[in-house]
Amino acid sequence: GKGAAMVTAVAYRLVSQRKQVDEALAPFKLTKDQLCEVKKRMRTELEHGLKKETHHTASVKMLPTYVYGTPDGTERGKFLALDLGGTNFRVLLVKIRSGLRRSVRMYNKIYAIPLWIMQGTGEELFDHIVQCISDFLDYMGMKGAQLPLGFTFSFPCRQAGIDKGTLVGWTKGFKATDCEGEDVVDLLREAIKRRNEFDLDIVAVVNDTVGTMMTCGYEDPKCEIGLIAGTGSNVCYMEEMRNIELMEGDEGRMCINTEWGAFGDNGCIDDLRTQFDREVDEGSLNPGKQRYEKMTSGMYLGEIVRQILIHLTKQGLLFRGQVSERLKTRGIFETKFLSQIESDGLALLQVRGILQQLGLDSTCDDSIIVKEVCGVISRRAAQLCGAGLAAIVDKIRENRNLDCLEVTVGVDGTLYKLHPHFSRVLQETVKEQAPTCGVTFMLSEDGSGKGAALITAVARRFHSNRQH
Ligand code: BGC
Ligand code: MG
Repeated sequence: GKGAAMVTAVAYRLVSQRKQVDEALAPFKLTKDQLCEVKKRMRTELEHGLKKETHHTASVKMLPTYVYGTPDGTERGKFLALDLGGTNFRVLLVKIRSGLRRSVRMYNKIYAIPLWIMQGTGEELFDHIVQCISDFLDYMGMKGAQLPLGFTFSFPCRQAGIDKGTLVGWTKGFKATDCEGEDVVDLLREAIKRRNEFDLDIVAVVNDTVGTMMTCGYEDPKCEIGLIAGTGSNVCYMEEMRNIELMEGDEGRMCINTEWGAFGDNGCIDDLRTQFDREVDEGSLNPGKQRYEKMTSGMYLGEIVRQILIHLTKQGLLFRGQVSERLKTRGIFETKFLSQIESDGLALLQVRGILQQLGLDSTCDDSIIVKEVCGVISRRAAQLCGAGLAAIVDKIRENRNLDCLEVTVGVDGTLYKLHPHFSRVLQETVKEQAPTCGVTFMLSEDGSGKGAALITAVARRFHSNRQH
């Protein structure tokens, strides 16, 4: 009768809705074979970046850092550190003691960098940084102390020494003018001169991955990899000098900042990218650049989710088919919201509450779909990142002619630390893709600041040893 026909109509609608959602999400679900392929292609790109002949066209730049080893516990002194390029800008004072009273003490202050400064002129950006340092020195009562400074600058830099770094290009949310191609240490020194209020001895420029590796290496000598899964995505690791063709010398090792966020900028993973990935890329500050980062890091995951939700809404599968102004707004899904939405045991009502906070009116059915979309996107991110890391650990293993390698990865970043599933899926993927490596993950506390200070301590000792 009539009732049965209605039930059939509703059931049919549900089935076809499911089919359309599945269709949209299918390209994000990667198989083991696809991940193995990602690992292989990453390996190829790592090699291209290291070799003289292929370096200039390689998407993964494999930048030498002039850091020759992890700390040995003899580092000591008082240092200033700057941390620019993550979620917050911070100025730190780091006191390191060696010997029996070995310890690291830190004092830090967080400063906001307004959007207009991140995307204004380089001069304004560096003047702002120096203004923050000045405030910090006042706050600590240390004006005139002239401490050695380590500058954690979390962007790709081509280094010609531990205290020289030319910015290759901005990433993430930064786009200040007149900085690309310039030495960022010079830019900082010039800003300090312009202010004409205090002097600083800038000893080292450090990528956040390297700072993280050094911080964890201070506790665990097996830590020879640094990973950031946060606003951006990147890895560094200890490579054999003989394999680094851009550097003279065959003895020993040097830490390489891979800048793997740019993996795929030559098109080599375009077969895995979806229409939604392309939309996120086109709406970003740096279209065509950092393609792997845009599939794996906190700054972009929410944007991928938002593009999918718009698509499903246009198909009439979500939000009563109405694409609201809110949903059209870039950047509404920050990492912390994704993390909340995906928390285990969160009742659907609470998911609706979070969406409400974001300004999105949802039904119960909507919230189920939103949670599913978030889960698929963060899972792919963790798997892609895990496949990349598998390429790194296997390379280190082969470098050392080992059948199995035990290694520790120092990790930092909001996505890794806050997301309820990212770290587990990442680790599972590394195990699956690099089964002969025993990989331990070590969370870094304040890696960027502490690591910059440790590197500064080593660089300064090296320097003064040579002078005396
Ligand atoms: C930058 C890297 C940095 C990473 C994590 C990327 O966008 O290019 O230098 O290590 O973000 O902060
Ligand atoms: Mg950071």
